[in-house]
Amino acid sequence: MSDYKLGLDYAKAQDNLDELSAYKQQFHIPKDANGKALIYLCGNSLGLQPKSTKAYINQELEDWANLGVEGHTDAKNPWLPYHEFLTEATAKLVGAKPIEVVTMNSLTANLHFMMASFYKPTKERYKILIESDAFPSDKYAVESQLRHHGFNDKDGLILWSPREGEELLRNEDLEAILKEHGSEIALIMVGGVNYYTGQFLDFKRITMLGHQHGCKVGFDCAHGAGNVDLDLHNSGADFAVWCTYKYMNSGPGSLSGCFVHERHAYNKDLNRFTGWWSHNKDTRFNMRHEFDVLPGAEGWQLSNPPILSMAAIRASLDIFNEVGLEKLIKKSKKLTGYFEFLLKDLGEDTIRIITPENPEERGCQLSIQVLNADKALHDKLTEAGVISDWREPDVIRCAPTPLYNSYEDVYNMVEQLKALL
Ligand SMILES: *Cc1c(COP(=O)(O)O)cnc(C)c1O
Repeated sequence: MSDYKLGLDYAKAQDNLDELSAYKQQFHIPKDANGKALIYLCGNSLGLQPKSTKAYINQELEDWANLGVEGHTDAKNPWLPYHEFLTEATAKLVGAKPIEVVTMNSLTANLHFMMASFYKPTKERYKILIESDAFPSDKYAVESQLRHHGFNDKDGLILWSPREGEELLRNEDLEAILKEHGSEIALIMVGGVNYYTGQFLDFKRITMLGHQHGCKVGFDCAHGAGNVDLDLHNSGADFAVWCTYKYMNSGPGSLSGCFVHERHAYNKDLNRFTGWWSHNKDTRFNMRHEFDVLPGAEGWQLSNPPILSMAAIRASLDIFNEVGLEKLIKKSKKLTGYFEFLLKDLGEDTIRIITPENPEERGCQLSIQVLNADKALHDKLTEAGVISDWREPDVIRCAPTPLYNSYEDVYNMVEQLKALL
């Protein structure tokens, strides 16, 4: 991939060659006050709206208006089984079997529901391992689980940290922690793609290590779903959760996805929090039956789900399904590689990229440390029409997403940055 070239002509030529370039037209691109399209590199935070989303939601609004409660069975897309319309495409996107995935709740809530089942502490084995710079919500959730079970949240938390002077996590350090503390650790729960550095961890290796030491293993894939090949089934992980509003473009606060490995699909003895939606579909409305849990990830649902939000997810999944993960990732690697190439041309004494260089260890996000910069730089970038994300003390996160970002977007972003440095 070292045949990238400088200059706008190269960017334009790549856009012409790009078989996914037309997908940009399928999204609403935010504009500045003068109506000029912004360079939107924040799909890692909130993905853009597909133009098709409105029609998908309108369909449900209309059926609700015209049918009322009968829409549960008589809507064009009946609401009772609506979540099932998302299953196959979701499974494909995260590399799972249909029985292993479900769309429900929000992300942090699902994390708790998964821990209700897969964090089963004993006096000897009660600790939880997370990465030291975990997303705050994950850390709070894990700490509260420790307290919920009567443990001290300082003593019970084991942190997997980067080495002094480094930002990225090393597998050999996890190995060392497990060698020393493996028998005390009940659960390993890490962010699969780190929100700050963009590092994509080796799920298979982490899961294998964890299982060797008797730990359950789960991943928060908020920054992975729709971005990298998660290959969840083959990873062997016990569970995973993600949101659909980042790379999955399904709208602010939209529902979360949840993966439970097939090996747990028929285990009715697993402790879990339940509701009527985890109950056998055939007898759910008899209302009086003894609880009979559904097999697979569906058996973790609690409530009848918000159809309007699911309609937005469906609109987005149809696009992902049409493109296919393989093409998406192929473009993603090339586009992010190009971004990296242009940034490196700015010189190592001005910027440093924290994200791993190896394309297999990252998705589309690059976290750029700008030496001697502060938030003013980010604000000026925003003024110049580049929407990125600032993390204290000095990191700009940019995610050129393959569905709606072009080579020209990336080129223009780096030109703006260059002008401000
Ligand atoms: C975005 C994100 C969240 C957000 O959680 P919500 O419950 O959806 O508000 C949590 N964890 C990680 C790792 C994230 O990236």
